[in-house]
Amino acid sequence: MSLEFKSFFTALSLFIAGVALPVSAQTDFQADSAFIRKIYDTALSEGKSYEWLRHLTQQVGPRLSGSEGAAKAVLYTKSVMESERFDHVFLQNVMVPHWVRGAKEKAQISNGKQKTDVPIAALGGSIATPKGGIRAKVIEVKSFQQLRDLGTEKVKGKIVFFNRPMDPTKINTFEAYAGAVEQRAAGASEAAKLGAIGSITRSMTTRLDDFPHTGSMRYASGAPMIPAAAISTNGAELLSKTLQANPETEFYFEQNCETLPDAASHNVIGELKGKTNAGKYIAIGGHLDSWDFAQGAHDDGSGCVQSIEALRILKALGYQPNHTLRAVMFMNEENGMKGGITYADSAKSKQETHIAAIESDHGGFSPRGFGIVGTPAQKARIQQWAGLFAAYGVHELGPGGGGADIGPLAQQGTVLLGLMPDTQRYFDYHHAANDRFEAVSKRELELGAAAMASMLYLIDKYGL
Ligand SMILES: [Zn+2]
Repeated sequence: MSLEFKSFFTALSLFIAGVALPVSAQTDFQADSAFIRKIYDTALSEGKSYEWLRHLTQQVGPRLSGSEGAAKAVLYTKSVMESERFDHVFLQNVMVPHWVRGAKEKAQISNGKQKTDVPIAALGGSIATPKGGIRAKVIEVKSFQQLRDLGTEKVKGKIVFFNRPMDPTKINTFEAYAGAVEQRAAGASEAAKLGAIGSITRSMTTRLDDFPHTGSMRYASGAPMIPAAAISTNGAELLSKTLQANPETEFYFEQNCETLPDAASHNVIGELKGKTNAGKYIAIGGHLDSWDFAQGAHDDGSGCVQSIEALRILKALGYQPNHTLRAVMFMNEENGMKGGITYADSAKSKQETHIAAIESDHGGFSPRGFGIVGTPAQKARIQQWAGLFAAYGVHELGPGGGGADIGPLAQQGTVLLGLMPDTQRYFDYHHAANDRFEAVSKRELELGAAAMASMLYLIDKYGL
């Protein structure tokens, strides 16, 4: 498209969006458009989120719930919001699960005399293997049904290998993840019910690489607890091929993880007080915890710093919010959700009505839209603002959900919004050691922060 035609097209679409608004929406298109332009200018020319992310990922580092890193991340983000002079910055007590990996895992494929080491990672919540590890023949399956059809006779005493890949034909990679992740979350117990002694799951990524991608798993009550790990996708391909050539192939693995008693931790909250409606709240947040061997740059350091940045930008522009705006760093999204649950419980007991909550937990990639969870009328109200976002590549208002941490607020009638960036590369990094600061683009991170600040501004100004 030529530049002239493109600017004509943009002007036309803005014009149409402007005049298409019903009078009842009472939006001031020109003023809002100008203010959102200022939000983007501030984010892109004097943004702070990228340097905060650098510190959080490189100086604080991994921050699994209950760890020293998580405690440091609490203090760091609190100090950032204090130095930005938010009206009120405080910690909210949260008790969290405390799982530790222990010494690095070992794993090997044994095909007769040929032994090949492969990368694995214990799944969060898994038990250890006995000292010295376990070695057994392997049963490969693609589904729980296939496993059940094999029955106890074929599964007993073996290691079950769950090898259904994320469906590469899904355009939204979160759909592909949703279609495969039961293997990681529930596979061990499904295998244990049939007498398996260990469970190995293909990593949740569409890419072929050597990084094991961890994640949480749960033991079903009544099933024996067996050790569970993720294997890299290259490792999974090799194991599958080796098994095809020789069904007698054995797998060996050793892991040293354990679950310690619950630990004291915190959500971190920073507020800009509302002027006309201070008793009503809009929360914007991400989760502060990450997996233990990852810097958690995309998941979810990005969402945390974008949320603080959204408040900082509105404050820097002299915006006086109607409602009280809160940036919330939720603790323990990865393996317990205790931060999100505690936050919603506290809001309920203190009668802090949340009209909306916005979460960024899909990576610090180029923003494309917002998922919305609310009534059709609330969705329609937000969709009336589409014209204000069109110039910034944010086109999808509606499809997708809110976010795990803000989810518990839905019961209180809160409208949930999830920033939805381009999802194509998210699972290249998700829960893996390559989710590092260098994987995040400064510009894309800042565009996300600006989109969140703009949505926050519109919700605050017009209500829902
Ligand atoms: Zn996350």
